Amino acid sequence: MKKHNFSAGPCILPQEVLLKASEAVVDFNGSGLSLIEISHRSKDFVTVMETAQSLALEHLGLTDKGYKALFLQGGASMQFLMTAYNLLETKAGYLNTGTWSDKAIKEAKMFGEIVEVRSSKDKNYNYIPKNYMVPADLDYFHLTSNNTIFGTQIKEFPKTKVPVVCDMSSDIFSRKLDFSQFDLIYAGAQKNMGPAGTTLVVIKEDVLGKVTRQIPSMLNYQVHISKDSMFNTPPVFAVYTSMLTMQWLKDLGGIEAIEEINDKKAQLLYSEIDLNPLFKGFAEKADRSNMNATFNLTDEKLKETFDTMCKEAGINGINGHRSVGGYRASMYNALSLDSVGTLVDVMSDLERKA
Ligand SMILES: *Cc1c(COP(=O)(O)O)cnc(C)c1O
Repeated sequence: MKKHNFSAGPCILPQEVLLKASEAVVDFNGSGLSLIEISHRSKDFVTVMETAQSLALEHLGLTDKGYKALFLQGGASMQFLMTAYNLLETKAGYLNTGTWSDKAIKEAKMFGEIVEVRSSKDKNYNYIPKNYMVPADLDYFHLTSNNTIFGTQIKEFPKTKVPVVCDMSSDIFSRKLDFSQFDLIYAGAQKNMGPAGTTLVVIKEDVLGKVTRQIPSMLNYQVHISKDSMFNTPPVFAVYTSMLTMQWLKDLGGIEAIEEINDKKAQLLYSEIDLNPLFKGFAEKADRSNMNATFNLTDEKLKETFDTMCKEAGINGINGHRSVGGYRASMYNALSLDSVGTLVDVMSDLERKA
């Protein structure tokens, strides 16, 4: 039986994408060869890379606006240091909204002065700091748009003239934004785009080339741009599968269409969390993430019963992260409204039984 997969990452991908990707592993484009046994410089794979890059820019509304899309390796965690390596000359600012921001700050500190502009650590990151000023003398300001672990999401981004870098690993392609307000966006594929192994980096080219340090080739965005994301062997399977997911999204009507579905899913689950006395949300309401809903039982004694009921309903991956506890239901693009409905039914069944 196909499970309802609420895993936070790696996570659910569209079924048709999995089927097409698995076919390509055996026979790619009817060539009699596998996608993963041909040269990455072959015409067929170069087309995949080019299509993936142009789809990424198209979805974000950044085609022909001075941006380049790269598919790199090392995960979003590599971007914590690459962003600083390439952009930080003296001082950068960070909004600390959780574990991932905190890790990004730790890496960046090796390259210059870091100002933690605001932090929500005082309340175990259950909210997004607001009404802060971004200092004007920063090389860049770094944000995490969606906090996968704590279930918070930035709804309004600061207006600033400083270049803005954003880790969108867990909400890329999930909602409409003016993406041109960002100068660098990165996202590990495995949350909303594809399998682990590649990271999408979208860069406005004019922010590069401003630091004086030497940058090793593999960590240098300009090197990757000059080689069209093929400086070395790219993770072909991860890029291909990400391309398929972006095509699936385009066929569905793009970000605008998926955002409507994502809103419905989040509303359905959050209204159950709010109305059912057995559950309590973790994140502050105004900052709740549409991707990762964090919640707890009000009576821990019901845990075993609830867990068993979830298991019987085929619900997978809702255990909370160890730093929050409780539950986390991740509702990425490929998760159906029907799966959220199943979880909500189990939650209201528990109320009836308890
Ligand atoms: C998962 C995640 C990361 C880390 O991604 P890796 O690809 O495992 O390095 C970074 N930032 C956010 C927001 C995440 O959700």
